[in-house]
Amino acid sequence: MSEQTFFLETQKQFREIAKILDMESEIIQELESPQRLIKFQIPVLMDNKKVKIFLGFRSQHNNALGPYKGGIRFHPQVSENEVKALSILMTWKCALAGLPFGGGKGGIIVDPRKLSRGELERLSKGYVQGIFPCIGPDIDVPAPDVNTNAQIMAWMTNEYSKLKGKDSPAAFTGKPLNLWGLKGREEATGYGGVVILEKLREIFGFKPKETTLAIQGFGNVGFNFARFAFQEGYKIIATSEQGGGIYVSEGLNPEQTLRCREEKGKIARCYCVGSVCDVNFGKQITNEQLLEMKVDILVPAAVEDVITKENASKIKAKYIIEMANNPVTSEADAILGNKGVISVPDILSNAGGVVASYFEWLQSKEKKRWQKKKVLNKLSKTLEKVFDEVWDLSKKESINLRKAAYLIAIDRVAKAIKKS
Ligand code: NAD
Repeated sequence: MSEQTFFLETQKQFREIAKILDMESEIIQELESPQRLIKFQIPVLMDNKKVKIFLGFRSQHNNALGPYKGGIRFHPQVSENEVKALSILMTWKCALAGLPFGGGKGGIIVDPRKLSRGELERLSKGYVQGIFPCIGPDIDVPAPDVNTNAQIMAWMTNEYSKLKGKDSPAAFTGKPLNLWGLKGREEATGYGGVVILEKLREIFGFKPKETTLAIQGFGNVGFNFARFAFQEGYKIIATSEQGGGIYVSEGLNPEQTLRCREEKGKIARCYCVGSVCDVNFGKQITNEQLLEMKVDILVPAAVEDVITKENASKIKAKYIIEMANNPVTSEADAILGNKGVISVPDILSNAGGVVASYFEWLQSKEKKRWQKKKVLNKLSKTLEKVFDEVWDLSKKESINLRKAAYLIAIDRVAKAIKKS
């Protein structure tokens, strides 16, 4: 999907919900586009002593519920429409999770792999210099996203504190522990997904040992989802990365698979059952095969738009837990719905990350360290409550979980606008 289509789809989705909520036209006008879009040049002194200009963006969609919140991505395909659409989705995600945050998203058009470490540091600091007056702990709190990490957040936080003239760790989240980063943030999104999986188990009564899972993506989210699901006893029979995946009918061991992947450089051929990796256990598969596999639960945890109108009718899973952002297109969603597939939408399934970011923001403001146990406990409780709200509304109104989640989220934002 082009970034223009993505933005238009996001607006269309919002207008459909606004219609059901009988929303006033001035609120529709406010919410269908970001309140502010900042587009700015970032001059960076390159290692060859020449200055190169990069283009940065920050989209601030809505702050009726609190400071804007959302990641900053470094990618050659970053665009105005992409950050606008993603900032809208962040508003709904934060509202659904009951967080005192609005939605934002930012990025720089760059291929970070082509920069030296020094250039990357100057670019990260240059981004903060460019938007300094528009961000801050109570204004807009960025976080890592595609190709950005704790180190980049550390450079950005330090630059923000320098410009502000005071230590300001709550200006960013996703930071290293020594800058008030949060224990448990790393695994929070995958962990949150397994909290959702356990809620489905409670409702549908499936037994983990007899329940098969296929997980697309073995990065931060996919691996941590696999790790916690494995701990609960689920049988993960397939996983993949960009170059392809593996099928292990006995069920694979995620930790062992990760170690094997680190050794071999790719996941294909890492057939790890228990603590042993052996080629006899499994076979190589493509990402397409993984998605269409006969499993109970499918977990897209890699990239957007992987389930489309082309392959939706071939999906055999009974449940989908959307861990990636936007893995199911709206056309595919309708096809899956007709087939009776239960899909838990991304703004609910992967909200563990932003909930943990909220904990980090609190911790950074209060300068009181949270233990990992407290983080994961509070995360579970938050997501369980949100899941129940979405589930109950979907039953009451006979609508799917996606529609229920959007109705709750958008209604909250609209009410906050009316109050302000
Ligand atoms: P990551 O970069 O750590 O891992 C991505 C994984 O997807 C890798 O295994 C990669 O090989 C694989 N991949 C990349 N392109 C692929 C393709 N075309 N087909 C199949 N696999 C492919 O990223 P992540 O942090 O795990 O994020 C995964 C998804 O979850 C993204 O959509 C992201 O926006 C979303 N998400 C992440 C977080 C978080 O806290 N990290 C929070 C919310 C949502």
